Amino acid sequence: MGRYLGPTCRLCRTEKRKLMLKGERCNSAKCPIAKKKEAPGKAAKARSAKLSDYGLQLREKQKLRKIYGLMEKQFKLTFNEAKRMKGLTGENLIVLLESRLDNIVYRLRFATSRNQARQLVNHGHVYVNGNRVDIPSYRVKANDVVELGEDSKKFVIVKESLKEFTKSGVMPWLDVDPDNMKGVVKALPLRSEVADLADINEQLIVELYSR
Ligand code: SF4
Repeated sequence: MGRYLGPTCRLCRTEKRKLMLKGERCNSAKCPIAKKKEAPGKAAKARSAKLSDYGLQLREKQKLRKIYGLMEKQFKLTFNEAKRMKGLTGENLIVLLESRLDNIVYRLRFATSRNQARQLVNHGHVYVNGNRVDIPSYRVKANDVVELGEDSKKFVIVKESLKEFTKSGVMPWLDVDPDNMKGVVKALPLRSEVADLADINEQLIVELYSR
Protein backbone atom coordinates (compact mmCIF):
# COMPACT_ATOMS: atom_id res chain seq x y z
CA MET A 1 0.00 0.00 0.00
CA GLY A 2 1.29 3.48 -0.89
CA ARG A 3 1.67 6.51 1.31
CA TYR A 4 -1.62 8.00 2.58
CA LEU A 5 -2.46 11.17 0.67
CA GLY A 6 -5.86 11.99 2.15
CA PRO A 7 -6.77 14.62 4.76
CA THR A 8 -4.27 14.50 7.64
CA CYS A 9 -6.75 15.12 10.44
CA ARG A 10 -8.73 12.12 9.29
CA LEU A 11 -5.93 9.89 10.58
CA CYS A 12 -6.32 11.32 14.09
CA ARG A 13 -10.10 11.11 13.93
CA THR A 14 -9.89 7.43 13.02
CA GLU A 15 -7.62 6.77 16.01
CA LYS A 16 -9.62 9.14 18.28
CA ARG A 17 -6.36 10.64 19.45
CA LYS A 18 -4.20 13.62 18.59
CA LEU A 19 -1.33 12.29 16.51
CA MET A 20 0.21 15.78 16.20
CA LEU A 21 0.70 15.52 12.45
CA LYS A 22 0.27 19.21 11.62
CA GLY A 23 2.68 20.84 14.04
CA GLU A 24 1.58 24.05 15.68
CA ARG A 25 -1.95 23.80 14.29
CA CYS A 26 -2.49 20.70 16.43
CA ASN A 27 -2.41 22.89 19.54
CA SER A 28 -5.12 25.21 18.26
CA ALA A 29 -8.79 25.06 19.19
CA LYS A 30 -9.53 24.22 15.52
CA CYS A 31 -8.12 20.71 15.91
CA PRO A 32 -11.05 18.32 15.22
CA ILE A 33 -9.99 16.12 18.12
CA ALA A 34 -10.07 19.13 20.45
CA LYS A 35 -13.55 19.83 19.07
CA LYS A 36 -14.44 16.18 19.69
CA LYS A 37 -15.48 15.43 16.11
CA GLU A 38 -16.67 11.92 15.40
CA ALA A 39 -14.46 9.43 13.53
CA PRO A 40 -14.89 9.90 9.73
CA GLY A 41 -16.92 7.77 7.35
CA LYS A 42 -20.18 5.86 7.40
CA ALA A 43 -18.54 2.99 9.20
CA ALA A 44 -17.56 5.21 12.15
CA LYS A 45 -20.44 4.03 14.30
CA ALA A 46 -19.65 0.41 13.58
CA ARG A 47 -15.99 1.00 14.37
CA SER A 48 -16.81 2.60 17.70
CA ALA A 49 -18.57 -0.58 18.75
CA LYS A 50 -16.56 -2.76 21.10
CA LEU A 51 -13.40 -3.89 19.37
CA SER A 52 -12.15 -7.47 19.36
CA ASP A 53 -8.72 -8.23 20.86
CA TYR A 54 -7.32 -8.20 17.34
CA GLY A 55 -9.02 -4.86 16.63
CA LEU A 56 -7.50 -3.30 19.76
CA GLN A 57 -4.04 -4.59 18.88
CA LEU A 58 -4.34 -3.35 15.31
CA ARG A 59 -5.51 0.12 16.32
CA GLU A 60 -2.63 0.47 18.80
CA LYS A 61 -0.12 -0.44 16.11
CA GLN A 62 -1.71 1.96 13.63
CA LYS A 63 -1.63 4.77 16.18
CA LEU A 64 2.09 4.37 16.88
CA ARG A 65 2.94 3.88 13.21
CA LYS A 66 1.07 7.02 12.20
CA ILE A 67 2.58 9.10 15.02
CA TYR A 68 6.07 8.41 13.64
CA GLY A 69 4.84 8.56 10.03
CA LEU A 70 6.17 5.16 8.98
CA MET A 71 4.94 2.81 6.30
CA GLU A 72 3.91 -0.66 7.43
CA LYS A 73 7.07 -2.32 6.10
CA GLN A 74 9.40 0.13 7.83
CA PHE A 75 7.46 -0.19 11.07
CA LYS A 76 7.62 -3.98 10.97
CA LEU A 77 11.38 -3.88 10.31
CA THR A 78 11.81 -1.66 13.35
CA PHE A 79 9.68 -4.05 15.39
CA ASN A 80 11.84 -7.00 14.26
CA GLU A 81 14.93 -5.12 15.33
CA ALA A 82 13.34 -4.38 18.72
CA LYS A 83 12.62 -8.08 19.09
CA ARG A 84 16.26 -9.00 18.56
CA MET A 85 17.40 -6.58 21.28
CA LYS A 86 17.72 -7.46 24.96
CA GLY A 87 14.84 -6.34 27.18
CA LEU A 88 11.14 -5.80 26.54
CA THR A 89 10.32 -5.71 22.82
CA GLY A 90 7.58 -3.08 23.17
CA GLU A 91 9.83 -0.72 25.12
CA ASN A 92 12.71 -1.31 22.70
CA LEU A 93 10.38 -0.45 19.82
CA ILE A 94 9.57 2.95 21.27
CA VAL A 95 13.21 3.71 22.04
CA LEU A 96 14.17 2.76 18.46
CA LEU A 97 11.44 5.00 17.06
CA GLU A 98 12.53 7.84 19.33
CA SER A 99 16.14 7.54 18.19
CA ARG A 100 15.31 8.14 14.50
CA LEU A 101 16.98 11.30 13.23
CA ASP A 102 13.71 12.83 11.97
CA ASN A 103 12.16 12.32 15.40
CA ILE A 104 15.16 13.89 17.16
CA VAL A 105 14.99 16.93 14.85
CA TYR A 106 11.31 17.25 15.79
CA ARG A 107 11.99 16.73 19.51
CA LEU A 108 14.73 19.37 19.40
CA ARG A 109 12.02 21.80 18.16
CA PHE A 110 13.76 22.45 14.83
CA ALA A 111 10.50 21.43 13.12
CA THR A 112 6.88 21.64 14.20
CA SER A 113 6.01 18.11 13.06
CA ARG A 114 7.85 14.88 12.29
CA ASN A 115 6.81 15.30 8.68
CA GLN A 116 8.50 18.70 8.50
CA ALA A 117 11.54 17.27 10.31
CA ARG A 118 11.74 14.46 7.74
CA GLN A 119 11.81 17.03 4.94
CA LEU A 120 14.64 18.94 6.63
CA VAL A 121 16.64 15.70 6.83
CA ASN A 122 15.75 14.55 3.31
CA HIS A 123 16.83 17.87 1.84
CA GLY A 124 20.23 17.69 3.52
CA HIS A 125 19.75 20.43 6.13
CA VAL A 126 20.71 18.30 9.13
CA TYR A 127 24.17 17.45 10.45
CA VAL A 128 25.11 14.82 13.02
CA ASN A 129 28.51 15.31 14.68
CA GLY A 130 29.44 17.69 11.87
CA ASN A 131 28.49 15.34 9.02
CA ARG A 132 25.50 15.90 6.77
CA VAL A 133 22.98 13.07 7.17
CA ASP A 134 20.00 12.88 4.80
CA ILE A 135 18.49 9.61 6.01
CA PRO A 136 15.42 10.17 8.24
CA SER A 137 15.70 6.69 9.77
CA TYR A 138 19.35 7.26 10.78
CA ARG A 139 19.73 6.02 14.34
CA VAL A 140 21.02 8.71 16.69
CA LYS A 141 23.15 7.64 19.68
CA ALA A 142 23.83 9.09 23.11
CA ASN A 143 26.16 12.14 22.98
CA ASP A 144 25.48 12.79 19.29
CA VAL A 145 25.32 16.47 18.34
CA VAL A 146 22.50 17.31 15.92
CA GLU A 147 22.37 20.70 14.22
CA LEU A 148 21.12 22.50 11.17
CA GLY A 149 23.34 23.72 8.35
CA GLU A 150 24.23 27.45 8.37
CA ASP A 151 21.75 28.35 5.59
CA SER A 152 18.94 26.31 7.14
CA LYS A 153 19.25 28.23 10.42
CA LYS A 154 17.67 31.20 8.61
CA PHE A 155 14.49 29.28 7.70
CA VAL A 156 11.34 30.95 9.01
CA ILE A 157 9.77 27.55 9.79
CA VAL A 158 12.73 26.68 12.02
CA LYS A 159 12.59 30.01 13.84
CA GLU A 160 8.83 29.65 14.29
CA SER A 161 9.25 26.13 15.56
CA LEU A 162 11.87 27.12 18.11
CA LYS A 163 9.32 29.45 19.69
CA GLU A 164 7.75 26.26 21.03
CA PHE A 165 11.06 25.57 22.79
CA THR A 166 10.69 28.87 24.62
CA LYS A 167 7.20 27.80 25.72
CA SER A 168 7.76 24.22 26.80
CA GLY A 169 11.44 23.25 26.43
CA VAL A 170 12.54 19.82 25.21
CA MET A 171 12.43 16.26 26.48
CA PRO A 172 14.71 15.61 29.48
CA TRP A 173 17.16 13.43 27.54
CA LEU A 174 17.89 16.26 25.10
CA ASP A 175 19.70 19.54 25.39
CA VAL A 176 19.24 22.37 22.93
CA ASP A 177 21.04 25.61 22.23
CA PRO A 178 18.29 27.55 20.38
CA ASP A 179 20.55 30.44 19.38
CA ASN A 180 22.91 28.15 17.50
CA MET A 181 20.18 25.63 16.56
CA LYS A 182 22.26 22.84 17.93
CA GLY A 183 21.14 19.97 20.13
CA VAL A 184 22.76 17.14 22.06
CA VAL A 185 21.25 13.73 22.73
CA LYS A 186 22.35 13.35 26.35
CA ALA A 187 21.08 9.76 26.46
CA LEU A 188 18.51 7.66 24.69
CA PRO A 189 15.21 7.80 26.56
CA LEU A 190 13.71 5.20 28.81
CA ARG A 191 10.21 4.17 27.75
CA SER A 192 8.81 5.89 30.85
CA GLU A 193 10.37 9.18 29.76
CA VAL A 194 8.37 9.35 26.53
CA ALA A 195 5.55 11.06 28.34
CA ASP A 196 3.43 11.97 25.31
CA LEU A 197 3.06 8.26 24.49
CA ALA A 198 1.98 7.31 28.02
CA ASP A 199 -1.42 6.21 26.68
CA ILE A 200 0.10 3.82 24.11
CA ASN A 201 0.03 0.18 25.16
CA GLU A 202 2.99 -1.22 23.22
CA GLN A 203 2.33 -4.70 24.60
CA LEU A 204 -0.74 -4.86 22.33
CA ILE A 205 1.58 -4.34 19.34
CA VAL A 206 3.83 -7.15 20.54
CA GLU A 207 0.76 -9.39 20.80
CA LEU A 208 -0.37 -8.39 17.31
CA TYR A 209 2.92 -9.36 15.69
CA SER A 210 3.10 -12.57 17.73
CA ARG A 211 -0.09 -13.91 16.14
FE1 SF4 B 1 -5.37 17.47 12.82
FE2 SF4 B 1 -3.25 17.86 14.39
FE3 SF4 B 1 -5.65 17.69 15.47
FE4 SF4 B 1 -4.49 15.54 14.39
S1 SF4 B 1 -3.80 16.64 16.19
S2 SF4 B 1 -6.63 16.18 14.18
S3 SF4 B 1 -3.38 16.46 12.68
S4 SF4 B 1 -4.95 19.28 14.05
